[in-house]
Amino acid sequence: MRTSIESKYLKNIEILPRGAILVGKNIVIDGHAKRPVRVITHIHADHIVDLDKSIRECSEIVATGITLDLLEALNYVDSRLLTVFRAKRRAVGYHECRLYNSEEVCLIPVDHIPGAAQVSVEIRDEKIKVGYTGDFKLTPKTEIMKGLDVLIIEATYGHPVYRRPFKDSINSLLVDFISEGLKTYKKVYIYAYHGKIQEVMLTLREHGVQAPYVVPNRVFEALKLLEERYNFSIGSYYKDSEAARIRSSEGVVFFKHFNSARFRKLDGKALHIVLTGRVLAEEPFKKLDDYTYVITLSDHGDFDDLVNYVIKADPRLVVIDGSRGGFAESLKEHLVERGFNAIVLPEGR
Ligand SMILES: [Zn+2]
Repeated sequence: MRTSIESKYLKNIEILPRGAILVGKNIVIDGHAKRPVRVITHIHADHIVDLDKSIRECSEIVATGITLDLLEALNYVDSRLLTVFRAKRRAVGYHECRLYNSEEVCLIPVDHIPGAAQVSVEIRDEKIKVGYTGDFKLTPKTEIMKGLDVLIIEATYGHPVYRRPFKDSINSLLVDFISEGLKTYKKVYIYAYHGKIQEVMLTLREHGVQAPYVVPNRVFEALKLLEERYNFSIGSYYKDSEAARIRSSEGVVFFKHFNSARFRKLDGKALHIVLTGRVLAEEPFKKLDDYTYVITLSDHGDFDDLVNYVIKADPRLVVIDGSRGGFAESLKEHLVERGFNAIVLPEGR
């Protein structure tokens, strides 16, 4: 049975099995529904599902400028729909809002991947304020949405086995591995997914790694865009095809797509680092062979981060997104134990 407070809010919120998050009457986030406004929190695959349909059937595609540009640069927009996409895209900055028939949509900063945003929607007619975190890591770069009636939260690591006591030291650990690799071999290969690649590049520069980067062509275009339009400072980087002409006493860091890790050459002339979002038992890293390490570098908060976000936000109702895998039911149980009103949507999964 629903409490009356839940029923009131749930008339305005729905999560579809394919991941579309419906808020109010006009807004659909990170999935498709035939509504005026599609909002995209970030470019990860499970958040841009059915983008083509939305480009056809929604009137506006709302996201940060970075996200919209990356969608094009990484060829995530069907080329036949590019003209329509460009006509419908609405770049919204952090803390900027747009009003759609008394529903106000605002984008809020979050620490996840470049361009990522949280979404808050104020449904003025009903006097209801809804916030959706999208994916997040809980760092000072993530702004906690307060004063919400409903918080919709991700649940990737919604189970207490996913606690990462070392999460704050992982960046310096990664930098140490790469610096050692550069000293010993002059070549380090890093295998990771899009989004994570860009983030690691920035992290290494922040920690003083000067070696040039070599990246796949598609990533190269995305990087150029981040640098030229959005003041990301990535230092020197080259396309795959230019690798042969690089002369660097600092060595070279090669970035490759995660899936190509299995084709790596173990010839003792390079160090290989595979970045995974998966949590590895108790250790922050694992040695695969003499020349390969797997390091956990997650874009998501761990169990404690999810719970802490809810405690700090203190919404009247927590809706846990159960459409994207993860551990929604477990997170719900823990939140209910702590006295929160929490439910999982879609139901019965
Ligand atoms: Zn994500």
